[in-house]
This record gives sequence, structure tokens and C-alpha cells, in this order.
Amino acid sequence: MEANRQIQDPAGWIDNLIKDFIGKSPENTLKNQANEKAWSDPLVGFSRGDDPLYRDFKEHVGAFHWTPLEIFSKTFPELTVTADELSVISWILPQTERTKADNRKETAYPSERWARSRIFGEETNVKLRKQVIAVLQEKGIKAVAPMISPLWEWKDSDRYGFASTWSERHAAYASGLGTFGLCDGLITPKGKAMRCGSVVAGIQISPTPRPYKKHQAYCLFFSQGICGKCIKRCPAGALSEKGHDKAKCRVYLHPTTQDYVKTHFGFDGYGCGLCQTGVPCESKIPTEDR
Ligand code: SF4
Ligand code: SF4
Repeated sequence: MEANRQIQDPAGWIDNLIKDFIGKSPENTLKNQANEKAWSDPLVGFSRGDDPLYRDFKEHVGAFHWTPLEIFSKTFPELTVTADELSVISWILPQTERTKADNRKETAYPSERWARSRIFGEETNVKLRKQVIAVLQEKGIKAVAPMISPLWEWKDSDRYGFASTWSERHAAYASGLGTFGLCDGLITPKGKAMRCGSVVAGIQISPTPRPYKKHQAYCLFFSQGICGKCIKRCPAGALSEKGHDKAKCRVYLHPTTQDYVKTHFGFDGYGCGLCQTGVPCESKIPTEDR
């Protein structure tokens, strides 16, 4: 592939690009008075476009769920590509220590920093996706960020209820960045208090090893039958030993937290994340504790 001939170490190059943006760009901001950073140092991983996991996701979630090749081909119908010519670039944006400390104290609603990270931090994440696409484009590499594609949609999954045509957490799981917890969040080496993003690109990059065999390996509940702390943290009763009730969670986010954010912090937003903070998997992989 032409792109692969031009770039000697694509993984290192893209890893630097993402870390540089989050480390140095003024776009990484909570937009509060002190103009604090929305995110701390990212984690970056890669998976192959033809990784069989993407087919498995489709089978589990529903036929509407894209493989990397599907969204790439829908975006660039003029190109003829095969799945093995594509890679998924995935990243984790960990919450800052201050944001986590604030949200840990909350018992019903999000802290202001958390609500800001949900809205303004996600704006940073959108700009990062666009920046990755633009830098790849400068090298003649076509790329698409499925989550910000105009084709992306919410869908109903027979098995999982609310679902969508692409999942950032599933891309991160495939890219070696973490496994799922009882509350559906992805537990990464920097914990579960994070947001993630991804880009599908026409370049071959060595995949990041997946240091896990089971998709819930890092959750104490699934691996050791203990913990369940996220259940107690949920103010909406949306978590139980059966998992995450997405419908209850969603109703709590909109309108309950939406009203709270507007009234208390003065901007249009929402958020919760109580199950992501004040729990053993907040900032690390809890099964690795000795
Ligand atoms: S708080 Fe405990 S049970 Fe919940 S996801 Fe984290 S490790 Fe699993
Ligand atoms: S985000 Fe909030 S409402 Fe939703 S499951 Fe987590 S704690 Fe419960």
C-alpha cells in the first residue's frame, strides 16, 4: 500500500499525533474559568480492519452494526478496498484527577467538571477525530470517524435495546484497550472514567495485542464474583447484578440531569458518570491489585 511505503512507523506516528493534540492543543478544554484541560494523557490502540471481532459484534448487536469495511466503503464508494487494507485507530481520553475527585463526592448528580467534560470534552474528542482524519489526509490516506459520520444512527438491537451503527467502546475493546464492566463501561489500564474515540483508516498498522481472553475479564464482578460497587453508586436504579438497564439510565440522563446541569451550572448539558467514579475500576484495572 502506498501509505505504508511512505510511513515507516505508522503506529508510533499516530500515537504521537493523538498524544500531542491532547497534551498541547488549546482545544483540550473544559471551558471553565481556569480553562482546565478536559482530558489527561490518552491511551492509543489499533486493530485490523479484518479482525473477526468486528463480524462478531455485528452478529451480537444486529445487522445494522458496521464493520470497518462497511463504514469505509459507504464513505468512499469510489474506492475499491478490502478489509485487510484498513485499520481501526482507537483512543481513550481519561478524566483528569480533579474531575474524578469531584464526581466521587457526588451521590445523585454530576459534578460541574464532569458535566463540562461530557459536553465540552466531547467537543475536544470530535476535534481530535477531525484532526486525525486531516493529518492522515495530508499523507493521502483516506479515513473516516464513524461516530461523526452523517450516516451514524441510533438503532434498536433485539438483544441489547438501544444500540447504534458504531460503538467506540467496542472498537477500543478490539484494539486492546480494555474490557467491559457490569455497568457496560470499558475498564482500561487508566480505568473506566474516560471517553473514547476512533477512526477507520486506509492504512495497515500492526494491531495492539489484546491481553485478555474474555470480554469482561477486568471486572471484579464477572471475574471474581465480588464488588458490585457500581450498583450502589447508581442514583437511577439502572444497575443490578443483571447489568445495565439502558432505558432507565437514559431517562435519568434526559431530562433529570439535563435540568440539573442547566439550573446549577448554567449551560445546556447532561451527564452522570457516578458508576464510573468512586468504584474500584475508576482509574485502573482492579483485577490487577495484589
Ligand atoms: S465497580 Fe466493580 S462490579 Fe462495577 S464494573 Fe467496576 S469492577 Fe465491575
Ligand atoms: S450513568 Fe448514572 S444513571 Fe447511568 S448507569 Fe451510571 S450511575 Fe446509573
